[in-house]
Amino acid sequence: MESFKNLGISEPVLRSISDAKFESPSEIQEKSIPLIIAGKDVIAGSATGSGKTLAFGSGIIQSSEKGKGLQALVLVPTRELAEQVAKAITQFSKYRPLGIIAVYGGVGINPQIQGLRTADVVVGTPGRLLDHIARNTIKLGRVKILVLDEADRMFDMGFKDDVEKIIRKCPQERQTLLFSATINKDVVRLSRSHMKNPLQVSVTSFVDPKKLHQIYYDIGEDLKFSLLVHLLKNEDSNLVMVFCNTKRNTDKVAKNLKSANIDAMAIHGGLPQGKRNNILENFHSGKVCVLVCTDVAARGLDIPHVSHVYNYDIPRESKQYIHRIGRTARAGAEGKAINILSSKDYDNFSQVLKENNVDIIEEHLPVIEKVAARMPEGRMNKPIVRKVPRNNRRRRLY
Ligand code: AMP
Repeated sequence: MESFKNLGISEPVLRSISDAKFESPSEIQEKSIPLIIAGKDVIAGSATGSGKTLAFGSGIIQSSEKGKGLQALVLVPTRELAEQVAKAITQFSKYRPLGIIAVYGGVGINPQIQGLRTADVVVGTPGRLLDHIARNTIKLGRVKILVLDEADRMFDMGFKDDVEKIIRKCPQERQTLLFSATINKDVVRLSRSHMKNPLQVSVTSFVDPKKLHQIYYDIGEDLKFSLLVHLLKNEDSNLVMVFCNTKRNTDKVAKNLKSANIDAMAIHGGLPQGKRNNILENFHSGKVCVLVCTDVAARGLDIPHVSHVYNYDIPRESKQYIHRIGRTARAGAEGKAINILSSKDYDNFSQVLKENNVDIIEEHLPVIEKVAARMPEGRMNKPIVRKVPRNNRRRRLY
């Protein structure tokens, strides 16, 4: 606890940290909390899993007072992240209670309007926040701290103009904290226009390479699904995330896994919010152990105990790869990232390797049984047993 105290964290927050049984600050906490508490504008290069919520949360909790109007606004890219961040700040403000509310689209606006009347801290997605601004149901005149969480993601999702509009509605005299996995041109531009002498801190890596084992299998398209089933049945795993590049593939893979008696659920942006929340709850609680998802649905989610991340489709952009594998090997735990490649993934995979300098080892193909699967194209693969030689040479693509 001494190490947290040395960062300048106040007693009530220290008590909640002690309840959470955190032993020592994470790298981003160590680097950013003293600056945040000193009231500086900070640009922090860090992804989910780095402990960033406590970093900005401790600043918010210490500078906010219950019943004094909306004093801290956190902008986040997704509904799930809004819920998650609001929950984390509520947890850390246990001994200094504040009115904290998450506002996002896809759910009724009236309960939010009610909650906003007494909120001290608001965590929201840009679209719904603009809606509240237009309706005059949110008052930003007393905001002291503005946090842009996962700024790069908000830009990727096309929220750049919305974010700027919201920033302009906040008082000029404020502290601005920007968290982003990548510090790209848009992030730099935004910080130049809207931050005051920002100090930049970043963590050296998102995942601990010693704890994360990254492998790939190179296999024919017709055996891809069968290999996934084989690995899911044979790997010693806890919670598992399987990434696909499209909603359509996500649904198909989850459906086919269920047919192969694997308890899987699909989550993507096309599902109604209530359903997404339900699926996530089931996954969190371990009722469903395999979550098949798109990048959008999974981005920013803090789900502990994910032991395996599968890339059933290799992502188009290398930074998505980093975000995906960042779901596992967190908080000191071991993790495994498994890439299942067929020829159509080669280009994307080369990109991932080139841009990220990651070390991914080719694994021998196991002997697998072909599993019947209805593929996105609608054709049915007939079940046949096929053996793949064990003695494939281990090699690296790069
Ligand atoms: P975040 O990057 O804020 O999404 O946090 C990722 C996870 O790390 C959350 O489950 C936090 O509760 C946890 N966490 C945050 N700070 C620490 C810490 N200092 N030690 C251990 N776990 C932490």
